[in-house]
Amino acid sequence: QAKEQGRGMFQFYDVRLTERAKERLFLESELREALVREELLVHYQPQYSLADDRLIGAEVLLRWHHSEHGIIPPDKFISIAEDTGLIVPIGEWVLQTACRQAKTWLAAGYDFQRMAVNLSGVQIERSDMLATVRQVLKDTGLPANYLELEITETYIMQQAQQNIRIMEDLRALGVALAVDDFGTGQSSLGYLKRLPVDKLKIDRSFIMDIPQDSNDMAITRAIIALGHNLHLTVLAEGVETAEQSAFLKELGCDEAQGYYYSRPLEAASYERFLKKRPASVA
Ligand code: C2E
Ligand code: MG
Ligand code: MG
Ligand code: MG
Repeated sequence: QAKEQGRGMFQFYDVRLTERAKERLFLESELREALVREELLVHYQPQYSLADDRLIGAEVLLRWHHSEHGIIPPDKFISIAEDTGLIVPIGEWVLQTACRQAKTWLAAGYDFQRMAVNLSGVQIERSDMLATVRQVLKDTGLPANYLELEITETYIMQQAQQNIRIMEDLRALGVALAVDDFGTGQSSLGYLKRLPVDKLKIDRSFIMDIPQDSNDMAITRAIIALGHNLHLTVLAEGVETAEQSAFLKELGCDEAQGYYYSRPLEAASYERFLKKRPASVA
């Protein structure tokens, strides 16, 4: 009886695995075409300064608009793009698109301060990021100080020594660097103090249960203090309520993004949030 049941369960598991594998294979071949068919697009999520509720910039978030399957979120295809190496051309396209957009907003006289772009560890390993970033800034004419690159804590800590050198080179170009999903990646504090970064982004998982979870509140408080003691800017991601925003403001957290402020937007919608720069007194 037990054996029978066991076998049944195994079969069930097997079918599901096959299905997932099939979906992966399908997405993999489709993803190869996506760039050519121009099915990729990006959304821009507003980021705010907490002290004065000012819009300061945007995080660029990749989307795939598949002709039959609609919008496919990055969690479904980034890992496939990484495994196949497709993340290299895709990431370059994202960077180019984001920098061109930032330059356009600046040229139009909007008060736009920063475009934050996610980098995958695979891009750093398999391509010359320094050369790519330098070339994209040159091609688009975007001054380096308007670009921020986000790298996850998990990836940075995997080969901290090696990554520190690459990050130093990127920073020497004048771009800012942020540690993404901070708090989930087992940072060694010894490395953290040596990381050439400007910002910590507190992972959404610590924010989402504030104020119900007092442990999360303690962790958030500690990360903000740690960041400030290391002279880093601290941004909280995934802020969804007025209460969370007020709590973070009270703790002196510098910046925030999340559905409370805005969901990721198409460029045209983001533009409606932008204000013209005050006319310079000539
Ligand atoms: P991430 O960089 O940590 O981005 C934040 C994610 O949280 C985004 O999901 C965003 O839409 C979502 N989010 C923002 N505010 C809230 C909120 O208040 N509540 C909730 N529940 N979610 C919120 P998204 O766009 O699905 O992206 C997921 C992940 O995919 C990103 O996490 C990033 O790791 C990766 N990703 C996105 N675009 C790119 C890209 O161009 N390149 C690379 N390498 N990775 C990317
Ligand atoms: Mg990010
Ligand atoms: Mg994040
Ligand atoms: Mg994330």
